[in-house]
Amino acid sequence: MAGILVYALTNEGAINKNSLGAVSQAAKLAGELGTEAHAVVVGNVDDAVAGSLGEYGAAKVFRAKDAPEGVSTPAVDVLAKLFADNDYDYAIFGGGLLGFEIGAGLAARIGAGITAEVTGVKVEGGKLVAQRPILGDSLISESNYKGKGVLIGRTNAFEATQSGSAASVEDITVDLSPQAGKVRLVKRGEQRGADINIEDANVLVAGGRGLGAAEGFQLAEDLAAAFGGGAAVGATRAVVDAGWFPYAGQIGQTGKTVAPKLYVAAGISGAIQHKVGMQGSENIIAINKDANAPIFEFSDLGIVGDVQKVMPALTEAVKAKKG
Ligand code: FAD
Repeated sequence: MAGILVYALTNEGAINKNSLGAVSQAAKLAGELGTEAHAVVVGNVDDAVAGSLGEYGAAKVFRAKDAPEGVSTPAVDVLAKLFADNDYDYAIFGGGLLGFEIGAGLAARIGAGITAEVTGVKVEGGKLVAQRPILGDSLISESNYKGKGVLIGRTNAFEATQSGSAASVEDITVDLSPQAGKVRLVKRGEQRGADINIEDANVLVAGGRGLGAAEGFQLAEDLAAAFGGGAAVGATRAVVDAGWFPYAGQIGQTGKTVAPKLYVAAGISGAIQHKVGMQGSENIIAINKDANAPIFEFSDLGIVGDVQKVMPALTEAVKAKKG
């Protein structure tokens, strides 16, 4: 029976939240298609953990115990084998860097169509139609598939909902391709800035190259601290690439999308790739020494001046206002 296969990414034995969302989404779609959603885990994942994917709608769970987790090629080998054995129509991934890599590898291996950054999926004429934002999130494009399809969700696009009970886990053995052993996961490290949470902040002070150096971010930290709880600091890609701020705080096309009540852009030019990640903010204040900086074109309030002078004054003003 053709159906939908979901790759459930695990991290040190626990299933990643985006993968649970992908399983829930696949189960809902499989119901509409009159078929089943199955899930696969790679690595020595505990019985109970693998089986728990059934609670999110997987009718069956495969486990490739002997394949290493955390790298792409062995997972592509495992998924390609399951596709060959079970003739699935679609694979759904929850997103994330590894999901993107494995999804792309699978699509190439089995000759499937692929859509990345998927934010919605519907059934039309007995087939899946993937929706994804394009042109800086200003339009939604829809794609369907002539043959098989690989759909990779945007991070957090699919909601995890518990709908069933534990599934049976079937162990499978897969002959890994010769190149599968070339990459090994040597060690996992704590991501710098793992505690940064810019998506939930109601006030965001974002810093760009205009802050001058990593130390310049103290100005942004001080202003955020003056606003108090619910305020956080973010950054542009230029400064993340320069090592001034952790990637977890990057806003934009290749970072996070944010929509706080107040967005303070300090020393940021306003490139389109940055704009797409913050244009949904309720109020935007920009501080830039260049009166012609593009950021002023989509700011509610613009301050032409040097961040070194304006930001301390703004911080004092916020403190004074808050008493
Ligand atoms: P700059 O463009 O260098 O701007 C610095 C600004 O600071 C200038 O406007 C300058 O006038 C001002 N300034 C300088 N000194 C001062 C001062 N003392 N006081 C006040 N103002 C001052 N960018 C992102 O942000 N997020 C993304 O996710 C992202 N993804 C990308 C994806 C792709 C495929 C590509 C090609 C690019 C991407 N970029 C992204 C990069 C983007 O194009 C810009 O290069 C980047 O946003 C610029 O960052 P910036 O504004 O900090 O630096």
